[in-house]
Amino acid sequence: MTALILKLDIGGQPMSWISWEDAAVHYAKDQVAWTLGEKPQRFFGGVNRMRNERSYLDIHPVIAVRGNMKHSKFTAVPPMNNRELFRRDRHTCLYCLKEYSDKKLTRDHVIPASRGGMDVWTNLVTACRRCNQHKAARTPEEANMTLHAVPYTPNYAEWLILKNRKILADQMSFLQSLCPERTQWWK
Ligand SMILES: [Zn+2]
Repeated sequence: MTALILKLDIGGQPMSWISWEDAAVHYAKDQVAWTLGEKPQRFFGGVNRMRNERSYLDIHPVIAVRGNMKHSKFTAVPPMNNRELFRRDRHTCLYCLKEYSDKKLTRDHVIPASRGGMDVWTNLVTACRRCNQHKAARTPEEANMTLHAVPYTPNYAEWLILKNRKILADQMSFLQSLCPERTQWWK
């Protein structure tokens, strides 16, 4: 799998992961303002028959693209889904502290949905099926269960880390510089 390219706006705020093909389009349109990372990945294009040379393009792991500064995603709350939630909690049930595969994990509402608990990062934790069933429509206190970590909303840089399983070193160090202390263990 080819690593994705981290796209920033021209001010250096992370925007999204894009394919190298999409990055190549930004290079071709001369929209790449600056780049980060020492080692670009080299992608080969077609062969030029006249000169019998193969064309190529060097794409840096992090590219800042001109335009698109109006709607910065950085301050928005990142969308919630189970994959990123389980990764936030390191695939660990926050009640019994055991690690499980995705299939055996569920999303638990700390304050149950039936009691007005919302579908937001700060009310959702990773729980194994057994703990979730045991807790049922109760708060942890009512169920006499200990919640071992306080659920938090990842910032946009953390969320980009959670989204992508193959992150290059230059990309990771850039994103980590924008993360609060709590996420420094994501290496
Ligand atoms: Zn559990």
